Amino acid sequence: MQWRARGGPVGRPGPARNENPFDDVLDQVDRAARVLHLDPHDAEILKHPRRQVIVSLPVPLDDGRVHVFTGYRVLHDTIRGPGKGGVRFHPDVNLDEVKALAAWMSWKCALVDVAFGGAKGGIACDPSALSEGELERLTRRYAAEIFDLIGPTLDIPAPDVGTDSRVMAWIMDTYSMKKGYVEPGVVTGKPLLLGGSLGREAATGRGLLVITREALRHLGRPLEGARVVIQGFGNVGSNAARMLASAGARIVAVSDVRGGIIREDGLDISRLMRYRHETGGVEGYHEAGPLTNAELLELECDVLLPAAMEGQITEANADRIGARLIVEGANGPTTSEGDAILTARGITVVPDIMANAGGVVVSYFEWVQDRNGYFWKEDVVNARLEEKMVAAFDAVSAAAERFGLGRDLRAAAYVVAMQRILEARRLRGLYA
Ligand code: NAD
Repeated sequence: MQWRARGGPVGRPGPARNENPFDDVLDQVDRAARVLHLDPHDAEILKHPRRQVIVSLPVPLDDGRVHVFTGYRVLHDTIRGPGKGGVRFHPDVNLDEVKALAAWMSWKCALVDVAFGGAKGGIACDPSALSEGELERLTRRYAAEIFDLIGPTLDIPAPDVGTDSRVMAWIMDTYSMKKGYVEPGVVTGKPLLLGGSLGREAATGRGLLVITREALRHLGRPLEGARVVIQGFGNVGSNAARMLASAGARIVAVSDVRGGIIREDGLDISRLMRYRHETGGVEGYHEAGPLTNAELLELECDVLLPAAMEGQITEANADRIGARLIVEGANGPTTSEGDAILTARGITVVPDIMANAGGVVVSYFEWVQDRNGYFWKEDVVNARLEEKMVAAFDAVSAAAERFGLGRDLRAAAYVVAMQRILEARRLRGLYA
């Protein structure tokens, strides 16, 4: 995966220069500090992750060889609570990417106001090229190497690209065996039987439903009958589609990596999900016509929900995007240049750190439940998730107004997050 410069808020202006994603983080801190009229030195601390760890992981492969993988864990900020952030298994994982992702977790947790700081980890590997046994040995060695750095009050990993609930179960088991007692709160995104939370799997999609509804209301438009286009039909895209459709929106087009489909009077999402389950994709679905991913992004619609991957809306297509509102389900789907064009065209973009934060909110709930040993009903999880997402949206809209940021919700989101972190820092003071 190639890194693409992200739309900052704050990160927007300027050419696509940031090969190093952590440079984007530095820009975001500076620009939010300017909006907040802070002395740049006040924000300096956020430019330096609290801890960066690189570990070498020798793992016996099935053919008898030993391969040494490289793993990372970065703790960006812990002023509001223990570190929180996923573990990514991908060939391109490197320290700067992990540092940037850790910082974004700090902003995201502050924005949805959960008592976590930001962290992230990863291993440079191709999980699809490893057998289940190799993957388990690699995961356990990684968990053993970072054992002293993680824990329910220190830093709590979760799934990210290339990892899942099975990987979380192995980390939880390794940690618990070394401790000598069961510690479910060391990771989130676990299987339900091991202390996972009801509602976690669909949480990002549910959060997107709430944010889309709030953003449309803000623009004076109803969700009922809204024409919605969704790129990506995986966990995030399909759950968002299902929930938006049951709230009355008309999902006219969706796509996945193989291609897209369109049906003007709206797709039946339950039937489409069954079709995807049987065939592995949405292409060829008999109740709709075909279209490409490029065409899908440019369709006239009320809401475009990019929920696939980064770098989809760029300077090459931003002037042809037909949506009135874009809600970023994926991380970093809009490049800096694309973002500038959308803003100039008056298209509202709800940024990823707010739009897709439903997952981390329910991760927080999972951690709370694990620590109490008492588990909530799904409707309690969902109601509390909704409350958090609405509060985040309201805080961001209020900041946009207060700081004269207009429709630039990305700028407003970064400002709210950084203001909360810096205020917590001011209240705590600086330890000797
Ligand atoms: P996923 O692997 O379940 O689904 C990804 C979907 O995107 C699949 O349908 C895939 O076919 C499609 N896709 C991949 N490449 C594509 C391309 N070039 N064009 C069109 N479609 C393409 O992943 P997911 O968990 O749904 O995550 C999607 C995005 O949301 C990622 O950016 C992820 O970081 C972000 N995200 C996920 C969560 C979560 O809880 N799963 C939370 C926050 C953010």
